[in-house]
Amino acid sequence: VAPHETVVLGDSFARELPEMAVPWQATEAPDPELLVLNEPLAAELGLDAAQLRSPDGVALLTGAAVPAGATPVAMAYAGHQFGGFNPRLGDGRALLLGELTDPAGRVRDLHLKGSGRTPFARGGDGLAAVGPMLREHVVSEAMAALGIPTTRSLAVVATGRTVRRETPLPGAVLARVASSHLRVGSFQYAAAGGDVALLRRLADVAIARHHPAAADAEQPYLALYEAVVAAQARLVAQWMLIGFVHGVLNTDNVTISGETIDYGPCAFLDAYDPATVYSSIDTGGRYAYGNQPVVTEWNLARLAEALLPLLADDQDAAVALVVPALERFRPQYVAAFTAGWAAKLGLPDGLDDDVTIALVQQLLALLHADHVDLTSFCRALAGAARGDVAPARDLFLDLAGFDAWLATWRAAGPDADAMDRVNPVYVPRNHLVEEALTAATDGDLAPLHDLLAAVTDPFTARPGLERYAAPAPVDFGAYRTFC
Ligand code: AMP
Ligand code: MG
Ligand code: MG
Repeated sequence: VAPHETVVLGDSFARELPEMAVPWQATEAPDPELLVLNEPLAAELGLDAAQLRSPDGVALLTGAAVPAGATPVAMAYAGHQFGGFNPRLGDGRALLLGELTDPAGRVRDLHLKGSGRTPFARGGDGLAAVGPMLREHVVSEAMAALGIPTTRSLAVVATGRTVRRETPLPGAVLARVASSHLRVGSFQYAAAGGDVALLRRLADVAIARHHPAAADAEQPYLALYEAVVAAQARLVAQWMLIGFVHGVLNTDNVTISGETIDYGPCAFLDAYDPATVYSSIDTGGRYAYGNQPVVTEWNLARLAEALLPLLADDQDAAVALVVPALERFRPQYVAAFTAGWAAKLGLPDGLDDDVTIALVQQLLALLHADHVDLTSFCRALAGAARGDVAPARDLFLDLAGFDAWLATWRAAGPDADAMDRVNPVYVPRNHLVEEALTAATDGDLAPLHDLLAAVTDPFTARPGLERYAAPAPVDFGAYRTFC
């Protein structure tokens, strides 16, 4: 039986928000070849991996075969890109195939990226290259394994079509799963069109799907906003704790669910430095590592503006309601960041927050001054709690500064085993990602699979994987990412 005959996809987005959904179909892949299938995710979704590997399965994963009753659509959204508003972005090279209900009853979007031009394509070709789609696969699966809310990658299929970038590249389609694709930009689209009934329907969909408790609040739309603020504060704190740099935090890349979405020029920090930027297009450093909390707050202010018509009849009253909700972002972020660092440092419960904050601030200053590798340091520090100080200490030049910090930290009584449960050994380091994508683009998938095996089980050190835990060789140089 072909998967598109057994997979059941809902079309609730297309039915409930038709103004924001353009029925569309994928461009044919001339010679599709499955590059990677996420079997654990397929199982979680109740999909048969063997079926997905068959030609009919690959047809489903590229949009060539559509399940009966499904209505693939290009989703409309707006967005601030690097601060400038565009009222009409939308899925220029992507399609929502429909909603899948997994065996646990969770509703998930099944979505394709790189599936051809749509009415939102503007000047773009609607396509994606193998390298960037595999980057999204590796990094999103690493994020999921790290416990960070994220969209998931089900599969990457090479299309057999050449994509023209700076050089001709092999094309690919990513099949992505998300708790939804509602974004801040979705609300900006509805608000910019001035259709308050549409905006309300969108907010009702978001409440039902992501923040159902808001429906029972005295002011459901304010409660929705508060829930998004809280989810984003937790999310960006998790990015900061792990050294993740999203790279393009435009409002169309900020979800209502609180999942990380749209892995473009993203990367992980090696040397700790708040000013770190990897994306070749982020020339001003707007989306630098250290700017992510404040930029997320800015993006949430744009969501607040979009929601104003739902909050009160008069704008001043609406603003008066929403500003205090936005102002909760900072304390919520600081609380999540502080609690996360307390866990990374193995600090005992009940330690005064001011003690934790002082320890973290001193540590970050030392890491920054000596350009210390964040992931290596955090993991090595658990060794120091067990008495093996050298691996952590050797990462510093300012030994007196580190020793003073270490003494204060040890006096707090850190728990090394607890640290190993939250500080990963393996993250998708830039040089390893680059190596895997370059090999895959040339037809060798072995480095990709080896890297995936390391980063999808990130907290347990395993013999033979030492190179996946090591910083980039010095000759790797400064890293630049491209969308
Ligand atoms: P992103 O940077 O992936 O978040 O995309 C920003 C906007 O550009 C979205 O509207 C995308 O659909 C669109 N876009 C990006 N690349 C392409 C492409 N190759 N063809 C058509 N649209 C694209
Ligand atoms: Mg996007
Ligand atoms: Mg610096």
